[in-house]
Amino acid sequence: MFMSEKSASGGSDAPSSKHFIQQAIDSDLASGRFEGVFTRFPPEPNGYLHIGHAKSICLNFGLAKEYDGTCNLRFDDTNPTKEEVEYVDSIKEDVEWLGFKWDSLHFASDYFDQLYQWAEKLIEQGDAYVCDLNAEETREYRGTLTEPGRNSPHRDRTPQENLELFRAMRDGKFADGAKSLRAKIDMASPNINLRDPVMYRILRATHHRTGDKWCIYPTYDWTHGQSDSLEGITFSICTLEFENHRPLYDWYCEKLGIHHPRQIEFAKLKLSTLLIGKRHMLRLVKEGFVSGWDDPRMPTLSGYRRRGYTPESIRNFCTEVGVAKFNSTIDIVRLENSVREHLNRVAPRRMAVLDPVKLTITNWPKGKVEYSEAINNPEDPESGSRQIPFSGELLIERDDFREEAPRKFFRLKKGGSVRLRAGYIIDCVDVVKDDAGEITEILCTYDPETKSGEDNSGRKVKGTIHWVSQEHAKQVEVRLYDRLFTAEDPSKVEEGHTFVEHLNPNSLTTVTAFVEPELAKADVGERVQFERLGYFVVDQDSTGEKRVFNRIVSLRDTWGKMEAKGKAD
Ligand code: ATP
Ligand code: MG
Repeated sequence: MFMSEKSASGGSDAPSSKHFIQQAIDSDLASGRFEGVFTRFPPEPNGYLHIGHAKSICLNFGLAKEYDGTCNLRFDDTNPTKEEVEYVDSIKEDVEWLGFKWDSLHFASDYFDQLYQWAEKLIEQGDAYVCDLNAEETREYRGTLTEPGRNSPHRDRTPQENLELFRAMRDGKFADGAKSLRAKIDMASPNINLRDPVMYRILRATHHRTGDKWCIYPTYDWTHGQSDSLEGITFSICTLEFENHRPLYDWYCEKLGIHHPRQIEFAKLKLSTLLIGKRHMLRLVKEGFVSGWDDPRMPTLSGYRRRGYTPESIRNFCTEVGVAKFNSTIDIVRLENSVREHLNRVAPRRMAVLDPVKLTITNWPKGKVEYSEAINNPEDPESGSRQIPFSGELLIERDDFREEAPRKFFRLKKGGSVRLRAGYIIDCVDVVKDDAGEITEILCTYDPETKSGEDNSGRKVKGTIHWVSQEHAKQVEVRLYDRLFTAEDPSKVEEGHTFVEHLNPNSLTTVTAFVEPELAKADVGERVQFERLGYFVVDQDSTGEKRVFNRIVSLRDTWGKMEAKGKAD
């Protein structure tokens, strides 16, 4: 079923439109179950953050802010073989870039001693035991969704025996995987997570923070709730796949008699055309399909940052899609529109020609240069205007000219007229072609009475096109990014195939473009609208001599759409 997220969401302005998590919070605060809203964002440092994480960040930090509470950043670092400091650093940078400040920073590994003590407590209470089954046997004893599991042959060891064995596990007396510590719950439970789940496994691996201090590591379930508890978290918000873990979360807190947060689950964000699992992204990076985690085509926050997306637009998008209880797919266009909407308000307009053809104004005095006043952003009167050089030799977009064109082609055609943005109305008189028949020059005259801003001629033309003065224009490199995958759902592949086959071979096109002179000095990270083309940002690959621009997102292309639908004439 395609469930609209909108129906399960709402803004936070009116009480009636609160989403289910806000309602749960209101109810727990009203009943006195909790005294405040203390949340956390708990990434595992095994990769870079992606757009799905942004949703969780906005939700956790957003709720804390809304209810005047706090939100922690906690690294869920219980899996030493996959975790790295590089990821820890990138995650901090990304959370800050999105615009959030954590109240305190924690690592689950800081709780390893406490977790160990608590494990001994469960053993003493008779609630945990050391099991000698190996991973495969443990799986086999666990049963299936339709069949109950079987008790481990080691389930009835005495607390004393278990304590000695557990200490020996910690002291490195056994080989990796030879034993595990398991909670003693119910091998017949319909919830597989309650069939004596593993709490500790033996694993000789160097941890990015605790080094070689431990050769036993706690599992996610044995770590998460207790970490929440230690930090005084009240609402432990996570995604739906943990719904079936909630009874275990509750069981551990109850058996330990510690502060007991409330776990609430919501649906993961899924966007059409994206593949955001870390496993997939890691493969794209490792096998060189992209230039790195921050490749502007990646759905990572560092990729979007480099691509030129603004934190505001990502936050607005997360708020707008709302919080849902059911999985659904959001159209990627909604994220792109959020970026357009924000940049339309803040990005200054500039002129750039990506695919140039020369246009000569035959009645322009030879060598004359005039400065035209161009408005920086019609959406933002504060942004003022700038002066751009105009001359008799211009470059325009090849696509803005047709020798013969249908009626609704409101750009330049032979015998037709068009306005040059911040310039004059011109009339096309002729074209020059090379031997191959390719147009090399467009010959026009200008109408001196029609200067933009001073035009009292009464002449009207349907179209306005952009241009740069050939002599003054600067060359830059422009990287035109398109979607990384062509499929709506790149994770869907037939037997024997992989998502790599859905990669879009044209996801990156590099061109040399000509821009108005000021742009050659733009700083890395500066965002502009190239008039009529889209939004662009200066990439970090820029050097002193050469600016590199990434296309953030195109504008909505009305002509292209009309032509595609066959409505052009
Ligand atoms: P992935 O499968 O991409 O690795 P993960 O859930 O394993 O994701 P974690 O680092 O464990 O990644 O996640 C940190 C937090 O972000 C968790 O609370 C998780 O539920 C949440 N999160 C991860 N992916 C999404 C998503 N697509 N939408 C919303 N929240 C997400
Ligand atoms: Mg994970």
